[in-house]
Amino acid sequence: MRAAICREFGKPLEIAEVTLADPDPGEVRAEVRAVAICHSDVLYASGGWGGQLPAVYGHEAAGVVTKVGEGVTDFTPGDHVVITLVRNCGTCPCCARNYRGSCESSFPLDDPGPLAFPDGNPVKQGLRTAAFAEEVTVHQSQMVAIPRDVPFDAASLLACGVITGWGAVINTAAPLPGRDLVVIGCGGVGLNAVQGAAQTNPKRLIAVDLSAEKLAAAEAFGATHTVDGSAQNPVQAVRDLTGGRGADYIFVTVGAVPAMKQSYAMMAPGGCSVLVGMADEAARSTFNPLALSDNSGRIIGSKMGHSDIRADIPRLVEMYRAGDLMLDELITVRLPFDQINQAIENVEKGIGLRNVIVME
Ligand SMILES: [Zn+2]
Ligand SMILES: [Zn+2]
Repeated sequence: MRAAICREFGKPLEIAEVTLADPDPGEVRAEVRAVAICHSDVLYASGGWGGQLPAVYGHEAAGVVTKVGEGVTDFTPGDHVVITLVRNCGTCPCCARNYRGSCESSFPLDDPGPLAFPDGNPVKQGLRTAAFAEEVTVHQSQMVAIPRDVPFDAASLLACGVITGWGAVINTAAPLPGRDLVVIGCGGVGLNAVQGAAQTNPKRLIAVDLSAEKLAAAEAFGATHTVDGSAQNPVQAVRDLTGGRGADYIFVTVGAVPAMKQSYAMMAPGGCSVLVGMADEAARSTFNPLALSDNSGRIIGSKMGHSDIRADIPRLVEMYRAGDLMLDELITVRLPFDQINQAIENVEKGIGLRNVIVME
């Protein structure tokens, strides 16, 4: 089968033939039908997080099960599935507390992965998924079955962008109704934070971005106010919109340190900054510890929206089918597999809300 391989950081991916191991006990093999490009894929491919090469990235996918390993009872060939990177054991301390994205167990698939070149040289299964490929083999815990009437492109978004943004609000922060909420960054994750935030009946829901197009999308996704960070100081603008008080929760959906610092400065007393976007590993942020303790403020992180994918993804699918979750509207660019480098370039340049590769 073919996969898009990163041989050198910062260089275009190369589509080449690789071999994929069949599923061992507890594992599932699936054909990829749609895979979205996430900022994490782009950050890995640029070298921002280091890691082993050659590698195949891609972790926001949907497809069809083709083979199941011994002992797999939740899936059968032909099932439509969302394929995620959340490889989880269900029983370690993090899984038991429902932080499954931070599962502490290791799995046979972790090393070596299922991918190799035809000559036997290994290829790293990036992000525990390697979905920039025609097929994947993953642990069964990484998959969720979905109804067959859900389009693959919309379903793929549920694997990462949606659970990360929506989950940061609903699972990680869980604001009570009537709060002032801010979402900084209105891309594929940020708009899902906006639609999650809108579901909590906020007093105000303020979207901050540098792009007029993304702010218009944020309004369509439920923002009550927008702040164009290229024209206004976002901290002052949020203070002005909240009567000087600041926001109760600020969701920082980009990995940019200036945005994090803005979030600390726009916190209301008792407020909380939720860091959702992944920074590159060299990034460092500073805050004023006196302001934080004096205001009982909080700065917390949220990985994969603290999602239990087997609970959250079916719930999100039901919302989508009921018209209460916008997914199709997020997909502004669809490209075939052989144009994956174009899709990655689009993400780097901020073109499109979500770029999705649709397999023929
Ligand atoms: Zn992602
Ligand atoms: Zn675990």
